[in-house]
This record gives sequence, structure tokens and C-alpha cells, in this order.
Amino acid sequence: METQPFKAFIDLITFDQKLQKLHKDIVAAQVVAADLDRKKRERARHAEQIQAQVRDLRKQVDAQELEMKSLDAQEKAKRTQLDTVRDARSYESLEKEVNHLKHAQHESEKVLLGLWNKVETTQKEFERVQQQDSVELATISQEHADVLAKIETLQAEFNAIEHDRPAKKEFVPEEWLEQYESMRSRIDDPVVPEEDGTCSGCFATINGQDILRLRRKALLTCKSCYRLLYQPKAMGANLENEVVKP
Ligand SMILES: [Zn+2]
Repeated sequence: METQPFKAFIDLITFDQKLQKLHKDIVAAQVVAADLDRKKRERARHAEQIQAQVRDLRKQVDAQELEMKSLDAQEKAKRTQLDTVRDARSYESLEKEVNHLKHAQHESEKVLLGLWNKVETTQKEFERVQQQDSVELATISQEHADVLAKIETLQAEFNAIEHDRPAKKEFVPEEWLEQYESMRSRIDDPVVPEEDGTCSGCFATINGQDILRLRRKALLTCKSCYRLLYQPKAMGANLENEVVKP
């Protein structure tokens, strides 16, 4: 085997690691974008919830006011009756009813006041949240737009580089490519050098016969981790020095 194909192979691996790094950057940016999007939606939902609370409380106020009007009308009617009643028993009974209505009015008024307080507090909270959102949501939205733009740039870069990949494979022997392609989806370093008689990927000892083959420029599969093994001196190249670490 010539050193030339191996150089081409190293070149392809280096190239792929650049692609992988870009891919990782894209995925990381996508996570950030999703998080910012979630924040935006959470804040919008929070504001909507408070607004709904205000609406609900106002409905309760309306209902309470209606009840008070009704109690007021009932009380007035009873009082009118009271003026016309002559016998003591009926008078006493009506008077009791009037007192009962007065008490109910008093209680209703207390409820109404409580509701009004709640409306006021909740409305203030809504205004506070809106105020906060007007500043912070703008920042979050800007950050989100920036990350989306970054993803687009990275993706364009990735696509442009990936376009050149077939040319990079041209001088790499098919058998190496096959093994490499099947490993590369699973591990970051599918091709590693032999070091002091061991695989530098998994530190398994390589048998003497294979060491000899490696020295004769063979590319072997590690029997322990299935990474592709090479002998740096024999190949006249060391991947470790050339590869851009992600
Ligand atoms: Zn190994």
C-alpha cells in the first residue's frame, strides 16, 4: 500500500471532523433557539393567564353587583310592605325579614369590596408583567433572531463544505472507506494510531503478527474496539497531529 492513499484518507478524516464540528455547533445553536422560543411562549402565556384572571374577577364583580341590586330591591319592597301592615305579628315577621336582608346586603358589600381589591391587585400585576415583557421580551426576541441567523449561516457553511466531500473520497481505497463510514456514525475517532503495541483508542494489546502488518503499511481493525488502526511511522503521517480536535 502506498502512503498517498493514506494521506488522502487522513485528509478525508480531517475534513469530516470539520463537518462534525459544524454539525455540533448547529445542534447546540438549535438547542439555544428552542430554549429562547420556549421562554418567549412561556412569558406570553403568563401574561395571558393574568389577563384572564382580571376578566374573570370583573365578571365576579358584575355578578356581585347584580346580587346587591336585587337585595336592595327586596329590602325596599319589604319596607313598603312594613308601612302598610297593621297587625303586630306580621309587622314583627316583616321586620325580621328586613333585618335579614340588611345583613345579607352588608355581607354582599364585603364580598364586593374584596373582589374589587383583587381586581386592582391583579390588574397591577398584569401591568407590571406587561412593562417587564416590553423590555425583556424584546431582548429575548432579538437573541432568538440572532441565533436563528447564526444557524442559517452555519448550515450554509456546512452545505458548502459537504458539497466537496465526494472529491475528498476519490483517492481513498474503497475497503477503508466502507469500514470508516460504518464507524464514523458511532464514534468520534474511528481511525487511531498504534502506540507501544496497543490500540490508542481502547488500549488493547495488538498481537505481534498484526504489529508486523501495521509496520508494512497495512490498515487493520482493532479486535477489541473495531477502530481502524495504523502505524504512524510506517504511514509517514500521524493523524493526531493533523486532526483538528472538535
Ligand atoms: Zn481498540
